[in-house]
This record gives sequence, C-alpha cells and structure tokens, in this order.
Amino acid sequence: MSDPIPCRDITDATRHHALDEGVGQAMGTRRRHLYVREIRGVFQRLRRVIGWPLMLAYFATPWLAWGERPAVWFDLPSREFHLFGATFYPQEFMLLSWLLIIAAFGLFFITVLAGRLWCGYACPQSVWTQLFIWVEHRLEGPRHRRIRLDRRAWDADKLRRKSAKHTAWLVIAVATGLTCVGYFTPIRALMVDLARLEAHAWACFWIAFFTLFTYLNAGWLREQVCHHMCPYARFQGVMFDADTLTVAYDAARGEPRGRRGGKLPHDAAEASGHGDCIDCELCIQACPTGIDIRDGLQHECIDCAACIDACDGVMERLGYPRGLIRYTSENALQGHPSRRLRPRLLGYLAVLLVMLGLFIGALGDRVPLDIEVERDRQRLFQLADDGRIRNVYTLTVRNLDQQDRAYRLEASGLDGLTLDTARLRVPAGESRRRVVEVTVPPHALEHPSHAIRLHLEALDDPTIRLERDSRFLGETR
Ligand code: SF4
Ligand code: SF4
Repeated sequence: MSDPIPCRDITDATRHHALDEGVGQAMGTRRRHLYVREIRGVFQRLRRVIGWPLMLAYFATPWLAWGERPAVWFDLPSREFHLFGATFYPQEFMLLSWLLIIAAFGLFFITVLAGRLWCGYACPQSVWTQLFIWVEHRLEGPRHRRIRLDRRAWDADKLRRKSAKHTAWLVIAVATGLTCVGYFTPIRALMVDLARLEAHAWACFWIAFFTLFTYLNAGWLREQVCHHMCPYARFQGVMFDADTLTVAYDAARGEPRGRRGGKLPHDAAEASGHGDCIDCELCIQACPTGIDIRDGLQHECIDCAACIDACDGVMERLGYPRGLIRYTSENALQGHPSRRLRPRLLGYLAVLLVMLGLFIGALGDRVPLDIEVERDRQRLFQLADDGRIRNVYTLTVRNLDQQDRAYRLEASGLDGLTLDTARLRVPAGESRRRVVEVTVPPHALEHPSHAIRLHLEALDDPTIRLERDSRFLGETR
C-alpha cells in the first residue's frame, strides 16, 4: 500500500521527525536516519531499467565461461587478465589505464551535458542502495509504517520484520561479496571449495570484507557515502555551467509555496496568489540523500529524479501541469535560451573521440605475443672449446593468442651469430621460459659489447612478430 498524500499529516510527532529527517543533513550536523519514501514514476522506472540489468550483468559475468576458463578473470597470481578470449599482461596495463582515462573523459562529457546522470542511474552505490530500499519497503512496509515500526517497542512482529530485512540484506551482501571475489578466482571452483570448507583464507577474507562493505554502504551509510566519501560529488560542481541539465525546482512557478484548502484548481490558486508548490514535502521524503531541492542545486543531489516523480504525482492529482521539479538548466529556468553545443562540451567530446580512436588503433595493432629477454648475470660470457664466444639468455615468451603457436627464433647484429634454439612452441594463453645460447666466432667482435636483436615470428602467421634488443658481451682478439 502506498503512503497517503500529503505526508505531513502522518501524526504531529512524526511530522516533526519527518521534517528533521528531510533537512539538516549538512556537514557537521548529526546524521539522522532517512525514511525514504518509495515513489513510482517514469524516472524511477528508468532507473530500474538501467540499474537492474547492470546489477544482473555484475552477478552473471563471473559465471560465463570462455573455453576452459572464465570469460572475465583477473588472475593475479599469474599476473594475467582474461577478457573474453583475449589475455592481457601487466605490460599491457597501459591499455587499461588508457581505458580508465577514456571512461573519465566520458564521465566529464556526460556531467557537462546532463549533470550527475551516472550517480543517479548507474553508480553501484545508488543501484545497490535502491535495491536495499526496495527490500526494506517490501519487508517493513511503506515509509509511514517504517517510522512507526522504529518508534514502537520491540515485539514479535517488529523482531520478525527487522530480522527478515537484515537477513535479506545480508544475503544480497554475501552474493555481492562472492561475486566480487569470483572476478579474481574462478567462481565455480570457489563455490566447491567453500562447500567443502577448503576455500583459501584470503578468498574468505575478501568475501567477508565485500559482504560487510555492501551491507554497511547500501544498508546503513547510504547517502553518507555520496556526501562524504565520493570525490566526484565534490568536483562535479566545477564542471557544471548554466546550460548543464540538472534536476531543479522552478521557484518562479512554485512560490509562494503553501498549503491550500481542498483541491483548489490551478487558475484559482494562481489568481489567489498561490504558487504551484503545496509544500507537501513529498519531494524531500522521496529524496535518497535527504535534501530539499527547493533550496537550489546542492552537491548532495545525485540527479536520481525521485523528487521529479514525487512532485509530478502531486501535480497530476491536483490537476496542475507537471514539471514543477524537472530536468532543466539554469538558463532555461531564468527564461534564457539554452545552448546544447558549447565549447567545453565540444572540447570534451573531441578529446574523447580522439582517445577512443587511438585506443581502438592500439588494440588493432596489438600483437598477441610478448617476449622478455634477460641476460645471464652470473657469467658475462663463456668460451667454447673451439674458441667461440657464448652468451646465455633467458627468454620468457607469452602467447597472448587463443590458439597454440610455434615460433621461429632468430638473432641478428653480428657476423656468424648462431643460436642453439630455432623453434619454440607455446600453448594458447600461456608462457614458457627457455634458456637460449647465442654463439659468435671470436673474430666477429670488434668491441667488448655489441648490440644484438632477437626476432620471434609465428611459423603460421608472419604478422605475429616481435623483436627485442639486448647486448652480446665478449673479449676482442
Ligand atoms: S515541490 Fe512538489 S513535491 Fe515538493 S513540496 Fe512542493 S508540491 Fe510537494
Ligand atoms: S534532490 Fe531530487 S534528484 Fe536530487 S538526490 Fe534528491 S531526489 Fe534525487
């Protein structure tokens, strides 16, 4: 059952409490528990349509398999990152950094264009909090009942409802923690190990850590994470301009606010000097961060649009036009023309597109092969019985491809240079270490140290080819 409107009429005592909860969340003031009112409306449906599939993807991804292994797997002990058939190594984490920078510019672009859409619709903190509030509403009832429940002395019904809520929260939190660890340890094996009580201590620690993290953040801390822990909330203000789309209250239309007798028609209300805001405070009660949007743009606002849906519901029931609170820009609110395409926005878009292009180019040029060459540090060089000079190298060859490969090894840089190894075979996605001896005739050395180059090329695909430089040491004769 949904709450009645206006909500200020719950009881005198509750009204006072509800007002305190809605405001007074400024920094330094003692935090009050927010009883967030569940709201139905187009934007809340949109939030679910965006947020819940994202959550589903988070839970489902570790279960996806690609051949013999998980499709997405951060294999930290082997220092490998498997992503749908491609394997990335620490040397390639530059690509990952690049991806993070692209994501940051994407976020800047969205922020300048449409405010904190990420926070309201896709941020894990918002999505999980929305789920926890949904569970709370199902098990403890709508907002006014929850307030009464908390004020009531403990009895069997309160104990049952509270236990059910916290159990459900914990189940979600455990599933979240398990899934998170499942990105680093194959989740099917992890589940078997857990069932047999044989899971690694570190896996158990991280499951417990992420369980607690989720339970506290989405169940208890909620808006405090956005207020005090998230850096984005602090710096997003500097990205806004007068044309950025944000959730805003139309004060020119809403003021003077106030309650009015009965269901006063819009024209009559206007004629008698009333603004459209009936001061029902539904927008405050629906706000997951507990702010009053009528006070203007605040850094706590996550652009979730719950207040828009709440207010639109009120306007509809009164027969007033919707949109007293709406997505708009400062310029539009003041009656000035709003510019969509502006230099800062175009600048972010240009950087974003250039970086995306470079990233795609780098991915396209990526050779699925990596080699490390390490000279033997114990002995600078060895003299063979026939007088030839020998240097020893350790090669680590990584096959980053999806199929087993055989490679041809060659070296250049000195006359008469020979290798004791000409072929290497490395299974798909694995690495092999091989000690290789490089030998040259003594007359080939003009200096004690020469640059040489080792070439590795796939036998069946000459485009898979890499070279590494090293030094050849010896004595001149
Ligand atoms: S802005 Fe809308 S929801 Fe908020 S108090 Fe006024 S009428 Fe109620
Ligand atoms: S003010 Fe409105 S948009 Fe902003 S956080 Fe509160 S409910 Fe969401």
